[in-house]
Amino acid sequence: MRKVLFLDRDGVINKDVHYLYRKEDMHFIDGAPEALKKAVEAGYDLIVVTNQSGVARGYYTEEDVQVLHQYMGDLLAQSGAPILAFYYCPHLKGAKIKAYDKDCSCRKPKPGLLLQAMKDYSIDKKHSFMVGDKPGDVAAAKTAGLRGYQFTGSNLDTFLGPLLEKEKRL
Ligand SMILES: [Mg+2]
Ligand SMILES: [Zn+2]
Repeated sequence: MRKVLFLDRDGVINKDVHYLYRKEDMHFIDGAPEALKKAVEAGYDLIVVTNQSGVARGYYTEEDVQVLHQYMGDLLAQSGAPILAFYYCPHLKGAKIKAYDKDCSCRKPKPGLLLQAMKDYSIDKKHSFMVGDKPGDVAAAKTAGLRGYQFTGSNLDTFLGPLLEKEKRL
């Protein structure tokens, strides 16, 4: 079984510029590559779970999301922090793009993305946890039966270091 660090994307891995899809607008949160490398060294696999309602709103396409994730994944892998999988929710109830106008079960704070990851991989829930920057991330984790922590501050390494120590003792 894998122990997994589940990560929200915007505001945790990359700076939240609202509806990011262009590579040139992707800037890592300070300390993020270093922090994620430490998590990998501590035995975690990394899985990203992200709401991308920009697809439903017509700001960008699913292909744009996938291209960006490939790019981010490549950079992080080069930094010693490969991402096992990216899961995203493209939906939004009442959205402009009808194909994505859906009251889905995968948009956080609902736990669908986490539950899907648990279906796809054999995950040691007890020793896994989630980090997000919004209360909805923490809520999704709790509903999925995981510990969830809200990232505060501006440097992910500073935040995650003590958390990895704490999790080691759980
Ligand atoms: Mg976020
Ligand atoms: Zn969804």
